[in-house]
Amino acid sequence: MNSIELAGVGMTSQRTRERLIQRLIDQGIISQPVLDVMRMTPRHLFLDEALSHKAYEDTALPIGYSQTLSQPYIVARMTEILLSAGPLKKVLEIGTGSGYQTTILSQLVQQVYTVERIEPLLKKAKERFRKLGLQNVVAELSDGSFGWDGHAPYDGIIATAAPQAVPEELLRQMAPDGILVIPVGNGQTQDLRLLRRIGKSHEFNEEIVEKVKFVPLLGGVSR
Ligand code: SAH
Repeated sequence: MNSIELAGVGMTSQRTRERLIQRLIDQGIISQPVLDVMRMTPRHLFLDEALSHKAYEDTALPIGYSQTLSQPYIVARMTEILLSAGPLKKVLEIGTGSGYQTTILSQLVQQVYTVERIEPLLKKAKERFRKLGLQNVVAELSDGSFGWDGHAPYDGIIATAAPQAVPEELLRQMAPDGILVIPVGNGQTQDLRLLRRIGKSHEFNEEIVEKVKFVPLLGGVSR
């Protein structure tokens, strides 16, 4: 686990960040570790400079290639749900994007594996991980619909792009009692689903958490 209190604090006042944290609390985020990590992590470092003044607003923001950095509330909510399973050793993230969600996770779990299908986005994200000194993140260019077999099983899997149905492969890569948080659907909005593997069985408890708005999970990689 890393703790990063990073450079660049001067760029945005502590008050602006505190306002975002207060908004997350008002929207029902209760996990103190999640709130603390989001307070310390400079979201503006994950955006192009032209947009960095919007970094502490609670909205999704464009990162190029028709992709978006998720809304802080959603990042907080998904992370909080994931952690509700207890301390997590190995987590797989599908859809690295800017690397913001990855960076939040890396401070809360032991090891994060993350995959992205768009090479230029992955490159930028990796550069950010390097600059931030994250030691427990491994990122790769690949189609996350197939998970990442090489490091399975995972205590937690989080998808930040929406498939039309839960990919079988992800269920297969979950550790006993593992947890999967994933937006599912093909409309303008999707259902955020929470699946929990029941012990070592191949059965899962499933719950719909809320409506969310994610970019679609697409197949193949793009260089
Ligand atoms: N977690 C990101 C959110 C980025 S948006 C962040 O915090 O910035 C979702 C990302 O999922 C996009 O970058 C998109 O390219 C990626 N994606 C979509 N389908 C994918 C797939 N099959 N495999 C891996 N990444 C995928």
